[in-house]
Parts: sequence; C-alpha cells; structure tokens
Amino acid sequence: MRPARALIDLQALRHNFQIAREITGAKALAVIKADAYGHGAVRCAQALEAEADGFAVACIEEALELRAAGIRAPVLLLEGFFEADELPLIVEHGLWCVAHSLWQLEAIEKAALSKPINVWLKLDSGMHRVGLHPKDYQAGYQRLLASGNVAKIVLMSHFARADELNSQASAEQAAVFEAARQGLSAEVSLRNSPAVLGWPQIPSDWVRPGIMLYGATPFEEANAMASRLQPVMTLESKVISVRELPAGEPIGYGAKFITPKPMRVGVVAMGYADGYPRHAPTGTPVLVAGQRSQLIGRVSMDMLCVDLTDIPQAGLGSTVELWGKNILASDVAMAAGTIPYQIFCNLRRVPLLYSGS
Ligand SMILES: *Cc1c(COP(=O)(O)O)cnc(C)c1O
Repeated sequence: MRPARALIDLQALRHNFQIAREITGAKALAVIKADAYGHGAVRCAQALEAEADGFAVACIEEALELRAAGIRAPVLLLEGFFEADELPLIVEHGLWCVAHSLWQLEAIEKAALSKPINVWLKLDSGMHRVGLHPKDYQAGYQRLLASGNVAKIVLMSHFARADELNSQASAEQAAVFEAARQGLSAEVSLRNSPAVLGWPQIPSDWVRPGIMLYGATPFEEANAMASRLQPVMTLESKVISVRELPAGEPIGYGAKFITPKPMRVGVVAMGYADGYPRHAPTGTPVLVAGQRSQLIGRVSMDMLCVDLTDIPQAGLGSTVELWGKNILASDVAMAAGTIPYQIFCNLRRVPLLYSGS
C-alpha cells in the first residue's frame, strides 16, 4: 500500500475549539466548509458535536452530507441558498441560512414555507464581496421580520483584513457594522479565526472559527495566541528510494536542482496530485526520521525529493512528515507562496486516518 496518508488528531481539534471558546466566551459555530478544510467534515462534526453550538458550511450540499450522517446540531449555510428552490430543504432539515443579497430577501418573502427559518443577515461592512449595502440593512431586517417566514435574525458581517493586526481596517469595518445595526435588537456575529485570536475588543455573540480549529495560524507573523493551537493534520509518507549522487548532478523535472556537493537524496511518495504544493521550492522544510531537512528539486505528481545527506539514520522506509506537529503547514504554505487554508483544502488521494475520537 502506498504510504502517503493524513493523520487527523480529533483531540487537537477539540483543544483548538476550546481555545476559541475560552478567548471569546461566545457561542461558536465550528466552520467545517470544504470538507472541514480537507480534514473530513463528518468526522470533525462528530468530534465537536458535544461542544460546538453549531456548524457552518458553504452550501446545502455540504449541510445535507452532515444531516445524512446524523448530525442534528444547527448548520449555517454561509452563502445562504443559491437558488430559491433550496428553501423547502432548508426548512425540512432545520438549516440556518445567511441572506447576503436583495434577491435572497425577495425569495424569502415570496416563498411559502411550512415553518419559519433562522436567517443571518449579512452586511457588507467594507470587504465588498457579499452582504447588503449599509443603506439597505435596516430595511432588509424589517422585510425579513415582516415576511412571516423568519423565526430569528442574527446580524453578521465578515472581515477582509483581520489577519493584519496593525491595520485599522477591521476596526473601521466594525464601526460601519455598529452604525448599520443601530437600534436593532438582535445577536451579532463578526469574528472569524484571525478576529477571534487577534481582535478581542470586537463584540460578537457568535464567533465563526475555521482555520484555527485545524491548528494553523491565520497570521503571517508569530502570534502568542496562535502558538497555543495544536496542528490537527499530519501529512506523512515514506522514503521509497535512496540515491547517492556526486556533485553536479540534476534532480527531478527541469533539472532545477543541481547537487552542489556529493549528496544522499531520498525519494518520497508524495506529490502535487496529493495536494502537496507544486510551487514549494527547494529549501521547504520537511521532517525525515525525526530530523528537519528540506525539499530539493521540483515536486512531481506522485513523488518529491528530500535531502538525506546529514541524516545518516534515514533510509528506505523512513517516515517523512510533510506538515504536522513538527513542520507547520503555515510554514510550508508560506514557502510555496500560499496559505495553510489552501494546502489543506487541496488535499486529495491520501487516506484520512483518525485518532482521538
Ligand atoms: C470561511 C468563513 C469563516 C471562517 O474563516 P477562518 O478564517 O477560517 O476562521 C468565517 N465566516 C465566514 C463567512 C466564512 O466564509
């Protein structure tokens, strides 16, 4: 059997959820969209069901997968419905629904629902992606109330730059939100992971942590709060071939790496078809037989090469951690010019093996 696999530590997932809870004291929806950022939505939901106040996903397909697996907790659709004919299913499965656009308000007004639904009314407070314009917000709220189709409304918005702790942007967005919701007596939800970890002064009855649950930092700089998180996923594989090469020999596609000296090179069963970033350059950290080393040459579809020169105890069959408890996914992502969100979501082909349930 191919040795590439992702170990998922559900105990660490719960630990990270508790940190979000402890920092904020707020109700928390665990964000498990995109198959829990590649960690497996159903298993992650089961592991958090006793502690989370609910879950958040991107679309009804993801929500129905949770319901089919027996998850009964509230599930919020972060973009609401994409077509009005999802509304009866939203009622049937007791889903909560973001409304971010006027067309969605209209659809809710026009629908004949057998039961009123819970709606999270989204404000565009400055990110300019989705959300009602501030001038439409109060009227939108009143329309939902008057529709007879809405049981409870939560007021929400989303930050564009909460990971930039020296930027004023989040405080400005929070101020736009405060102004828009003046006089409305409803719960509010603003904070994603970087805002949970970095913006304690911003109010949020409900928080929506995602990436932090998986133990990766949303920040580029070192952060004391984020350093308390425990990595949940360990992506590992094994050395399947070893080469002793003299100086001056090319390694891999494009001969992008030429041995500067005699080297021992290990070939690892892991490639970009598994989701390992192809743009990770020579020098990207890896752990081989418990010792830090580096990637060398181009990442192939199914294999990549690592430097074994200074790890005499490493050889055929040695375990390689691509990211996990020792090699942080955020460091690998940074080396590859991307973010941990993306390298987690890109994971595929490797089996997910769970512990700590
Ligand atoms: C994905 C998402 C989150 C979670 O964001 P993280 O940065 O992963 O914590 C929260 N809120 C909304 C609306 C989202 O789409």
